[in-house]
Amino acid sequence: MQEFLNYIGGERCPARSGAWLETVDPSTGQAWARIPASGAEDVDVAVQAAQRAFDSGAWTGLSSAERAAKLRAWADAVEASAEWLSEVETRDNGRPLRETRFAQIPGAAMQIRYLAGLAENLQGSTVDIRPGAFAYTRWEPVGVTALIIPWNGPLPVFFAKVAASLAAGNAIVVKPAQQATASILEATRLFDELGFPPGLVNVVSGRGSEVGDAIAGHPGIGKISFTGSTATGRSIMQRATVNIKNLLLELGGKSPNIVFADADLDAAVTGVSAGIFTPNAGQACVAGSRVLVDASIYDEFLERLAAHAASIEVGDPMDLSTGMGPIANEAQYETVRSYLRLGREEGARLVTGGHTTEELIKDGSPLRGGFYVDPTLFAVDDNRLRISQEEIFGPVAVALPFNSEEQAIELANDTPFGLAAGLWTKDLRRAHRVTDRLRAGNVWVNTYKAMHWALPFGGHKQSGNGGTANGSTALHEWMDPKAVWMNVG
Ligand code: NAP
Ligand code: MG
Repeated sequence: MQEFLNYIGGERCPARSGAWLETVDPSTGQAWARIPASGAEDVDVAVQAAQRAFDSGAWTGLSSAERAAKLRAWADAVEASAEWLSEVETRDNGRPLRETRFAQIPGAAMQIRYLAGLAENLQGSTVDIRPGAFAYTRWEPVGVTALIIPWNGPLPVFFAKVAASLAAGNAIVVKPAQQATASILEATRLFDELGFPPGLVNVVSGRGSEVGDAIAGHPGIGKISFTGSTATGRSIMQRATVNIKNLLLELGGKSPNIVFADADLDAAVTGVSAGIFTPNAGQACVAGSRVLVDASIYDEFLERLAAHAASIEVGDPMDLSTGMGPIANEAQYETVRSYLRLGREEGARLVTGGHTTEELIKDGSPLRGGFYVDPTLFAVDDNRLRISQEEIFGPVAVALPFNSEEQAIELANDTPFGLAAGLWTKDLRRAHRVTDRLRAGNVWVNTYKAMHWALPFGGHKQSGNGGTANGSTALHEWMDPKAVWMNVG
């Protein structure tokens, strides 16, 4: 069994209590490594180490060009480590290797380079108020910041947000999800190799209820970027009142993917399927989990989508030909199974899928246990059902018919979330009209899940409060503005 250690103050160490957690390979269901089960005292030591690194000036004292150069060296090292790090990530959370190795880690390296560029281009402004007054703004780092990370995309979230916070001049304490911590602890080796100041980035492994809660309530942390569920976001907000922490929240979704009758249906079938099923079994915050289809093409579209879904190769995430991997951990597997039961109880019509590991193995699949659910499509006629409203976070879509553009927009907006939305149409005027009225932080027209570091990323409504590491203003999210007025007349 492999063992991974915390990274605090530049040192590798177990939890102070000596406690451990097992970490499981979701393609087999077997434990393959152990990670520290840290507690509040480990968080406290990490916050002190981060504060010392910040105060030492070893990072903040660099010129912006020097900081950017260091970040670019890190980006190169990340890119060169794609093969090794992607194997740890895929073993731990089941996201297919073809994505972790060839898309996510190289993409993260590009994002770090983009953020390094922003560090060199940070600008305040002068404000013309009146003769004799010289007024200007400057952007300053917060100090010690924290990241709380989910299990569905540990390395991309870690690389992007650590890079944004470092580019802004901060020190950082990171808490990965207990279900997928190993790859992040491994990735800290690059900081040693590149000679980053000890304590500038610290990683504390453990449970949300202990390490996460201690971070949320720690008075030495000025800002937290949290990526995870809306329910946990709410509890962090409550704990953060202790020192009026600034919070960046990237939360959940139940995103609509709308297919109009005039769409290129071949493209829509492929795009809707990739929006919810592939590659990592719907465990994406932006998953297009509500498929809204014009009633005039509803039956035909569902038939084609179901055929596409059924053709996806569900299997070992380490195999580069796998189309869709497992659910990332047992707790989430149980959640998805409970929604499969709920769908049936709520009277939804199962169009395709709905099978779990045991049934898939019985049907001759070469799976070796683990937490698998095949691509599942429910046809429903009510957007108020629980399966239509709640985030399932698995390869499960509900499809609803609509009779007019107006009704499509109403259905699309009828959830507490507002993270993403897709629409498929050949009518340019309709594309603009509908886009303007969708209450979502990201809208995709004739594509889905298209993301780029230069485009802001964040949610509306209960999906969060904005972007954290994307777009030209990303660093401002990690800084405090200072307004200065000098009387010079
Ligand atoms: P989660 O339960 O909210 O967990 C997210 C992180 O918060 C984990 O590190 C977790 O630790 C920690 N945590 C749990 N309880 C905590 C507490 N009381 N105080 C502080 N931290 C705590 O979310 P998840 O189910 O793992 O992840 C899936 C969710 O993330 C989905 O809702 C998805 O939509 C959302 N997500 C959003 C985005 C986005 O950008 N909007 C991206 C990815 C995922 P432990 O797991 O170790 O207990
Ligand atoms: Mg795991």
